[in-house]
Amino acid sequence: MDFKNITVAGSGVLGSQIAFQTAFKGFNVSVYDINDEVIGQAKERIAKLKQRYLEDLKATQDEVDQAYNRISFYSDLANSVTDADLVIEAIPEVVQIKVDFYEKLGKVAPAETIFATNSSTLLPSQFAESTGRPERFLALHFANEIWKNNTAEIMKHPGTNTEVFDKVIDFAKAIGMVALPLHKEQPGYILNSLLVPLLDAAQMLLVKEVADPETIDKTWMVGTGAPLGPFAILDVVGIKTAYNITQAKAEKTGDPAFKKLAELLKTEYIDKGKLGRETGEGFYTY
Ligand code: NAD
Repeated sequence: MDFKNITVAGSGVLGSQIAFQTAFKGFNVSVYDINDEVIGQAKERIAKLKQRYLEDLKATQDEVDQAYNRISFYSDLANSVTDADLVIEAIPEVVQIKVDFYEKLGKVAPAETIFATNSSTLLPSQFAESTGRPERFLALHFANEIWKNNTAEIMKHPGTNTEVFDKVIDFAKAIGMVALPLHKEQPGYILNSLLVPLLDAAQMLLVKEVADPETIDKTWMVGTGAPLGPFAILDVVGIKTAYNITQAKAEKTGDPAFKKLAELLKTEYIDKGKLGRETGEGFYTY
């Protein structure tokens, strides 16, 4: 493995997880965020992850303490990247924020440093030019609760150098991820390209009153051998997220079926506090 020093920019939900997982696997990690107050919160957020590793992975106290001690914290971007082999960006999903960030980063990071975006919905080609090093830039997309849901979708944009792509694949494996290479840009990567149409189709069957959630799930599970059906998956995703996505689609397409579905999710689930697994009830009771 060529990399030793990894910088994670953005210490929110995903950035804190990426930082801790990377340190847990023995790399030196620098965490960068916008100011000292947010960095203070980052320290707490990351320290809290120790407990999840003790419980979920049966890690030892010594292992999680050592992982935490491999992390340094910065509110100065230039200082956070002086030795970085790789910068993983996990800042808000807003194009202008990311463009501004990459313009600054490109100026202060060493020329050989590779940059990767964890963006869920934006494509790396949208930022490639602003990095000033498009050939050393690509997407490295993790899932929430990275230590358990250990997928890493590694996606090139048309200008990414193949050697850079291969190095990031090796890095993803080195931090315990199942590395999933995408040779071309694809909105939603592989997982959401498969999952979103399935979840949409299931919800359309419900809104058209073709069948109830249990029957739809049973059909999928018995018919394909899958462990969960689409409505059980929606309970994991959360009904609020499902509602937000449906509402956005209703506004964008004007399709009355999406509008009806959004209403159903709101009145029958969200308003009744049935938000999915998180609250003990969604389409199913847990
Ligand atoms: P978040 O809002 O929890 O965290 C964002 C962090 O970025 C905050 O700590 C914020 O202070 C910091 N930030 C804001 N502006 C910044 C700047 N200019 N420079 C550096 N840091 C800045 O967001 P999140 O949920 O962790 O998402 C971050 C990225 O990861 C997004 O691109 C998102 O699409 C992606 N992602 C999120 C999830 C998820 O489940 N939350 C999963 C996969 C990928």
